[in-house]
Amino acid sequence: MASKPILCMHCNGEMQLYTGPRYNRKVAGFLILGGLFATLFWIGAVLGIPLILIGLYMMGSKRDLWVCKDCSSAIERIKLNPETIGK
Ligand SMILES: [Zn+2]
Repeated sequence: MASKPILCMHCNGEMQLYTGPRYNRKVAGFLILGGLFATLFWIGAVLGIPLILIGLYMMGSKRDLWVCKDCSSAIERIKLNPETIGK
């Protein structure tokens, strides 16, 4: 199954697996910086710590994409739970 290529819907080109960040790195970095800044003031820690945690989660979250070698269109690879199909 793993060696079977996926063909592009648009141009029938071969698609390649690409693993990249799920969220924008700049947004995640901004949240962490904003959280750190808020935590400098003790009242801000209530807001700052969740912001840092969200930012770290966004930094670490990855997604699998299939990208066409020819036309660069991409589809996301999603793992479906078999139990949720057909309900
Ligand atoms: Zn294509």
